[in-house]
Amino acid sequence: MPDLSNSSVLSSHKKVYVRHRMGEVCILCGCPSSIDVAHILARNAHGNAKLDELWKWSIQLDGFKKDNPENLVCFCATHHRQYISGEITIVPSFAVRQRMIEQEIQDFQRRQLAVSQGQPDPGRILLMPPELTAEFEYVPVEVPLYFQCHTSSPLHPHTFMFNSQDIEQYPLRRWDISIYAVLMAASQPLASPARILSPRSDAAERDVRLLIQLYRRQIAPPSLPITISPQEWPQIRDFLAAAERMPPVWNTTTRVQESPGEATTGATPDLLTYEDEQIVTPAVLSSRTHWRPTESKYGDEGSMRFATSSDFVINSNELRE
Ligand SMILES: [Zn+2]
Repeated sequence: MPDLSNSSVLSSHKKVYVRHRMGEVCILCGCPSSIDVAHILARNAHGNAKLDELWKWSIQLDGFKKDNPENLVCFCATHHRQYISGEITIVPSFAVRQRMIEQEIQDFQRRQLAVSQGQPDPGRILLMPPELTAEFEYVPVEVPLYFQCHTSSPLHPHTFMFNSQDIEQYPLRRWDISIYAVLMAASQPLASPARILSPRSDAAERDVRLLIQLYRRQIAPPSLPITISPQEWPQIRDFLAAAERMPPVWNTTTRVQESPGEATTGATPDLLTYEDEQIVTPAVLSSRTHWRPTESKYGDEGSMRFATSSDFVINSNELRE
């Protein structure tokens, strides 16, 4: 089995640490054999753009790096392949996502208020564990039926098999991994047009998309107060005076409301006063007596026939006549 995680660059010490933390089993199925240590936000697949965006979300994520333990999980070979190919993904649980949305909406209002009072943007505060439970759920994306690769092991008799069809309740799993890296990594597979629709994957896609849009918002700077006095700046004073003398912007709605009768006599053209006949439609054209279809040597085909290349061949016999 090739090393899909490119985890060979991870130190063996780090791998041992992550395996130990995850209980030496695949986090999804509990399979204890052939465990890979995998990146959530992949080193290669996600490039640096995702990491840059994560850092912009909050100063709290400044220390996040792809090789940090909070970005590393244990997968069996099957789940590793499915995760990195986007066939499955992991998202924060429904309840956790709702808390994240509430927090961001309230926090954004706090920042807006501060900026509107002339203070600098205090920055986003993200909920972090233990305040926010690091609770996750598995979401099948392009896998219609989740085949059990492992039921339980003697060491982990209660290892739960995630159910892909929303038929049974399943326990949510708690791992010591980054909620925000999980969210970012899930956005791509969930947006796949090949996503198999299910209530769970629909809700995950909607919430993940909403959260990322919320985290991308920036606080707009307040409009600067006018501190320039027109007396000090003659050009500005003249400009303001000229602006006051200018007629109001022509507006059909206000003209009709203010003087419906004058519009037809005034010099300003008003589209609303044109009579219907002046709008040239095919029906108007055909009703006019001076208009006739072009006479054509093609008879019934009339002028409706499209020209073809043969129409432009000069016939030498016709030229002689
Ligand atoms: Zn597995």
